[in-house]
Amino acid sequence: MLKDREMEQKLRNEARTLLEQGKVDWIIGFEAGSLKFSTTPLITKDKNDTERLVINPFIVNNLADFLTGIKGRVGIVVKGCDSRSVVSLIQDNKVVREDVVILGVPCTGLIDLGKVEKLTGKYRDELDDITRQGNKVTIRVNGQKKEFPATDVLFDHCLACELPTPKEYDLLLGEPSPPIANPLAQEKIEKLKQMTPEQRWGVWEKELSRCIRCYACRNVCPACFCQRCFVEETEPQWVFPAPRWQDNLMFQIIRNIHVAGRCTDCGECERACPVNIPLRSLTREMYDIVDELFQFKAGMDKDAPPLLTHYEEEEAEGIFR
Ligand code: SF4
Ligand code: SF4
Ligand code: SF4
Repeated sequence: MLKDREMEQKLRNEARTLLEQGKVDWIIGFEAGSLKFSTTPLITKDKNDTERLVINPFIVNNLADFLTGIKGRVGIVVKGCDSRSVVSLIQDNKVVREDVVILGVPCTGLIDLGKVEKLTGKYRDELDDITRQGNKVTIRVNGQKKEFPATDVLFDHCLACELPTPKEYDLLLGEPSPPIANPLAQEKIEKLKQMTPEQRWGVWEKELSRCIRCYACRNVCPACFCQRCFVEETEPQWVFPAPRWQDNLMFQIIRNIHVAGRCTDCGECERACPVNIPLRSLTREMYDIVDELFQFKAGMDKDAPPLLTHYEEEEAEGIFR
């Protein structure tokens, strides 16, 4: 399997060539962030910027989120889950397939710094280094090395990953990686399912009372692409603008319905939440319900009709005449 460094070099060369040959107007990828172990989206028209592109276990953003706001042809770096978001946007006619050059990263899972901090008892700033070698992650702190199974520090959504290698791509930067599908991924969700409805209500009341309604969860989500979100409507006003827990709950319920059949379990909403609300317990549950009821997984087939804006005549059951 090609290492991140080799894929990175291949990506830099390819991105430069795409811009030089005028095959794309923009490149969207990742560059090193200003904080330790972080990356940030790089959106550029300048071929010299391609030297800043990186691939590492911290490329968290789902860059498909930027596609609907950019005019022109775009070369975009995608992991498996992000590629499904691109495909889902194509299915919804939000993106034209011919306008994107998909640069696929065969992913092996991303490192959740929150889990690393819990395991080591240290803040990320105090860590010297985090490296991944296959199924092991080595963390160096105060000159001492500690080794952990990778499954201890990967994001939950990565542990659940069904498609780490993009299915839709123009160039695959490395060899395909196998699905991760580790049962640990569903632990939090299963725990909630064991509770009575009253207990679950109590959990969500407590969790959503902490929501500050910053909308980071919505803003990082490629499936949330409405030009005007229902939360900004004033006639009618669907939710009160102040972050009361009941309105926060309403926001999450409606958002989940809007992304049903579009959510690819990329985990970005949960990661972006500044108060650590376990949003994946809602989005993944909806993902599974959609799969169970309609045998539909978002972004798997660009030629398949989208789930929510498509119906068969026989499904109308007398509603449409
Ligand atoms: S969900 Fe899969 S493709 Fe997406 S970041 Fe995690 S392992 Fe990679
Ligand atoms: S990111 Fe978290 S705090 Fe912000 S609106 Fe979403 S749930 Fe609330
Ligand atoms: S709802 Fe969350 S997990 Fe689903 S696509 Fe949007 S950001 Fe990703």
